[in-house]
Amino acid sequence: MIDFSLSTKQIDIQNKYRDFTKRLIIPNRLKYDELAEFPWEIVKKAYDENIMNGPIPIKFGGNGFNIMDSAIASEELGAGCIGIGIGIDANTLALTPLLLAANEQQQKKFFGRIIEEKSVAAYCLTEPNAGSDVAGIKTTAIRKGDKFVINGHKRFITNGEVAIFHTVFALTDPEKGARSLTAFVVPTDLPGIEIKPHLQKMGQKASVQNEIIYTDVEIPAENMLGQEGRGFLIAMKTFDRTRTGVAALSVGNARAAFETAKNWTKNRVQFGKPISANQAIGFMLADMATEIEAARLITWNAAWAYDTGQRSASKLSAMSKLFASDIGMKVTTDAVQAMGGDGYSTEFAVEKMMRDAKLCQIYEGTNQVQRIVISKAIMK
Ligand SMILES: Cc1cc2nc3c(=O)[nH]c(=O)nc-3n(C[C@H](O)[C@H](O)[C@H](O)COP(=O)(O)OP(=O)(O)OC[C@H]3O[C@@H](n4cnc5c(N)ncnc54)[C@H](O)[C@@H]3O)c2cc1C
Repeated sequence: MIDFSLSTKQIDIQNKYRDFTKRLIIPNRLKYDELAEFPWEIVKKAYDENIMNGPIPIKFGGNGFNIMDSAIASEELGAGCIGIGIGIDANTLALTPLLLAANEQQQKKFFGRIIEEKSVAAYCLTEPNAGSDVAGIKTTAIRKGDKFVINGHKRFITNGEVAIFHTVFALTDPEKGARSLTAFVVPTDLPGIEIKPHLQKMGQKASVQNEIIYTDVEIPAENMLGQEGRGFLIAMKTFDRTRTGVAALSVGNARAAFETAKNWTKNRVQFGKPISANQAIGFMLADMATEIEAARLITWNAAWAYDTGQRSASKLSAMSKLFASDIGMKVTTDAVQAMGGDGYSTEFAVEKMMRDAKLCQIYEGTNQVQRIVISKAIMK
């Protein structure tokens, strides 16, 4: 028999994140959507209430979440605002390479610093000529005695301007290309790091992205994560863990749009009856509710597969990101439609949810890239 009920610990996580979202994210989401700034005020409160750094082991000051715990937490953040949710969650992306490949000493040092300083990190993979095709990375990290010297150009880096360190993927031997890709921790207070003003974008505006140029940035060799040449594997294994997070944020955002549309259509009367009493709208809401359930189930299944070490975990993680973010886009678009002019206005935030949903189909590998991952896995 399969049991879909949550454990007491998981219900506690759900309640804690739901309460935080209700008190601190929902009342501030339109403000940050307008400001388009990193939500420091909320991230500091997230630190105060132990909402940050879910997957970091408890011994280093994190919450020791497994992937399922993280999915439950991220759905609640997504139900408030994906942009602010990413402000809180992006540490997971940046710190996962350390979880996977750092030694005990490195984990103690870098997790310790992040938590002590109540700060954030950034994951630096994408470059102007290496988006979907990670193998196109050109940034180099050339060994010079007990140092590596980093030169290169990264793009679309979430938290770039606010991070105390960057997790940078660079080639240690340009002739070997991606076979020499290696992960490094690069503290942002070092000379030679230029961070451009953050990107202006369509949605998830509380989350900031920067172009970053590294010119002769010298880091200690001990900041290398794992072995030289293992960077590609670390980057892909990171996504296996974090794509369920994007899926969960999408489910939360879709849930919020559905709830808003459901309540609005129940109360709005035209032609002498509530809008929701029209079958065309009632069926739309029925489809939305069904799709959200399905998206949550594939997300939880992917999380379960990862946590229990199933071979299908990578494929399911890509499937969950693909399916839940496509459903997120559809549900939020339908919510705007069901609410007519009020849906399109900023007052009910569903137009924001629709704008926010779009990005989940693009980052951490576009949904075309997820299909490449899935088709390779099923053809094996
Ligand atoms: C807001 C935001 C935040 C981000 N945060 C980070 C971050 O923190 N760290 C980081 O390293 N990166 C980050 N990224 C980068 C993100 O992961 C990339 O934008 C994404 O992987 C796509 O790369 P690209 O934009 O270069 O598009 P391209 O690779 O140029 O793709 C353009 C289009 O072509 C399609 N395409 C490409 N190749 C194929 C193919 N083989 N078959 C079919 N279709 C294909 C794509 O699906 C897409 O539709 C972020 C991006 C954004 C917009």
